Amino acid sequence: MLLIPCPYCGDRAQTEFTYRGDATVERPPAQASAQEWYDFVYTRDNPRGEHTEWWHHSAGCRRWIKVRRNTWTHEVLGSESANSDRSQE
Ligand SMILES: [Zn+2]
Repeated sequence: MLLIPCPYCGDRAQTEFTYRGDATVERPPAQASAQEWYDFVYTRDNPRGEHTEWWHHSAGCRRWIKVRRNTWTHEVLGSESANSDRSQE
């Protein structure tokens, strides 16, 4: 079991969270081609190593967070709030 550091609640068991996918995928502009939209919705990389993922603290504070995790070793390298990118704009 993973121990995930929620930025709001501290270290919590993985069972309190729901995995929600790749946090590096960027939404294309509205005028993007059908292929770009298809890739956005359906195509994902399957990385081995460090990766940034969306997790939802569904049985805790119910906030979305980004977790940096090694997909090979399952080591959790850190986390941040979901809107951390926006706070730097
Ligand atoms: Zn939390």
